[in-house]
Amino acid sequence: MSALESCEFSHKLNWLFPRIATETELEWIHTKEHIDNVKQVCKTGGGYLDPDTPVCSESYNIALKSAGAWLDGVNEILVGNSALILSRPPGHHAEADRSMGFCLFSNAALAAIYALKQNVINKVVIFDWDVHHGNGTQHIVQSNPDIAYISIHQFPFYPGTGSQIEKGDFNNVLNIPVPSGFGSKEYKQIFDEQIFPFSQNFSPDILIISAGFDAHRNDPLAGINLEAEDFAYMTKRYLEIQPNLLLGLEGGYNLGALEECVVEVCEQMVQANV
Ligand SMILES: [Zn+2]
Repeated sequence: MSALESCEFSHKLNWLFPRIATETELEWIHTKEHIDNVKQVCKTGGGYLDPDTPVCSESYNIALKSAGAWLDGVNEILVGNSALILSRPPGHHAEADRSMGFCLFSNAALAAIYALKQNVINKVVIFDWDVHHGNGTQHIVQSNPDIAYISIHQFPFYPGTGSQIEKGDFNNVLNIPVPSGFGSKEYKQIFDEQIFPFSQNFSPDILIISAGFDAHRNDPLAGINLEAEDFAYMTKRYLEIQPNLLLGLEGGYNLGALEECVVEVCEQMVQANV
């Protein structure tokens, strides 16, 4: 937030506080048991939902707000704006029936379903450039012919899913596992030759980016060597498909890199809206 507040184009940004997603909305994609479990653990003071996912008493409400921000983002697209969702916790590892890897609820999948419930949106593409495979998002959307899920991720790596042979029930999933050490050149080629045409051919009315920034070269968790300008490049090209994007945070563990990347991708969206 501070990086965006002090950037050159800060006067062009409109800041919104998110609404809270409802339990009914969460039940579109999550089991009631999972929702109740998260609620209960938080209510009793917190604990571990999985070995990577500690929660405190406030986490449930914060997760509802995080999910609500992605839904507000869809509303912004509907009125002709782009939206950058600066919310935590992230969501792409959360499965229908359990939390995983810092993720409580599947924000991107929820946003996609919410979008499809609007009359004007018939097809949604979710592109997940987080360095980890978004197992939860994929599993929730892969049997929906109106949602495409695309992920480029380091492999082998957490969470172990995301093989190329996982293509969804309608060829609506594209997984591109890449080895540690890949960087700008390789990503750009894969984006231009595979990700962009697959996305465009799906004819989406809305494009959602699960924008983890842990594929940045300075990220301490992963071994991919992207620069901020590479994320800007992918954002810019995606804006050729639709003039507005919904882009929300997932991972990203070097705060300096995160600041730089967020400002660069936001600038692309601002320029496209001039
Ligand atoms: Zn990640």
